[in-house]
Amino acid sequence: MAQPEVIVLGLGGVGSAALHHVASRGKRVLGIDRFPDGHDRGSSHGQTRVIRQAYFEHPDYVPLLREAYRWWHRLEATVDERLFHQVGLLQVGSPEGVVISGVRQAAQTHGVEIEELDADAIRPRFPGVAVGADDVGLFEPQAGYLMVERCVHAHLRAARQAGAQTLTDRQAVGWESTPTGVVVRTDGGETFCADRLILAPGAWAGDLLGDLGVQLRVLRKHLHWYAVDDSAYQQANGFSTFMFEVPEGIFYGFPAFDSLGLKVAEHTGGERIDDPLNVSRSPDPEDDRRVRDFLDCYLPYVGTERTRHATCLYTMSPDEHFLLDRHPRDERVAFAAGLSGHGFKFASVLGQALADLAIDGGSELPIDFLSLRRFQDRSAVNV
Ligand SMILES: Cc1cc2nc3c(=O)[nH]c(=O)nc-3n(C[C@H](O)[C@H](O)[C@H](O)COP(=O)(O)OP(=O)(O)OC[C@H]3O[C@@H](n4cnc5c(N)ncnc54)[C@H](O)[C@@H]3O)c2cc1C
Repeated sequence: MAQPEVIVLGLGGVGSAALHHVASRGKRVLGIDRFPDGHDRGSSHGQTRVIRQAYFEHPDYVPLLREAYRWWHRLEATVDERLFHQVGLLQVGSPEGVVISGVRQAAQTHGVEIEELDADAIRPRFPGVAVGADDVGLFEPQAGYLMVERCVHAHLRAARQAGAQTLTDRQAVGWESTPTGVVVRTDGGETFCADRLILAPGAWAGDLLGDLGVQLRVLRKHLHWYAVDDSAYQQANGFSTFMFEVPEGIFYGFPAFDSLGLKVAEHTGGERIDDPLNVSRSPDPEDDRRVRDFLDCYLPYVGTERTRHATCLYTMSPDEHFLLDRHPRDERVAFAAGLSGHGFKFASVLGQALADLAIDGGSELPIDFLSLRRFQDRSAVNV
């Protein structure tokens, strides 16, 4: 390949999408990752990810989500594969909780369709769910799940079809600006030069973006699959993805659609880790207990046989919102970092935003609220 115009560093959920967007614009692009396609060492593995639009985290994400939906559908058409399953999402909790109040606010602000369900309406519609008399439910019919590894493979496949080149099993040890471009060095002693650079390093942002001055915390998280005998939890019988805000925390999961059964995890909590390369992949007894207690209380007919366990990494920004911007040291470098455990559903549109920022120097997407400026303006947040 002649010298690339753009290098994309990190080919996980976000980087694979950026690679596709850049290649689709006819640019010579090289993608680099230290692991093979669709690997399980970062943050984009474990079969499924929830996708939804009535976004309790902040209403400003909703326009981006609409664009993300459009790109996921286009990707499905490009690779001729189903990646998104629109099974809906049941969200349950107290009306005053962050989830229910945030979903209502986002839905009202942006006209996202949600159905209000009180406890008496939840029980007959979701017979496998136990709720308290004061709980409310909000059902979002447009929500569902993405097949996470398949999405990464699909973006990489589509990118290569559009002319992208990739190098895996290569660790980038650093990047530098030169007057004519940006240089990336690898652990194999190679040097790659390009006009522009996109950084999507996930849990390794501390290595490549440490000079931003924003502290990113990496958390170890667990995913659990349980066998289900009860037909109430089967996708085929109308069970949907779910998210519960209960006094113990926020728990979420997916309906049973294969022999692994129902998948469940806790969104809150997580164990801080220092080195994303050295993470125990074993279950954690305390996490096991919390998830089991949640199931026993709210999904009480789920069996006790765990069919699979996986660990995965969240990279938390100080305010738990994404960082998406051009690098203050070199405006030819764009980055996405600190996706804070809720970024995968956006990967398709983050790829567009990163291509815009790197190639055009700005984006028409409404991404200002995710810029680095919010930390630079509030030095108290910088550490
Ligand atoms: C358990 C769990 C559940 C989640 N659930 C949801 C959900 O339901 N919905 C949702 O929207 N989001 C969810 N998320 C969050 C979402 O999955 C992540 O935000 C997203 O996958 C992060 O993508 P990424 O591209 O930033 O990171 P990754 O996919 O990890 O990609 C980073 C890539 O960079 C590479 N890399 C880093 N440094 C270097 C280097 N120096 N040299 C070469 N390569 C390098 C890595 O090898 C890796 O491939 C969940 C996350 C976890 C862990």
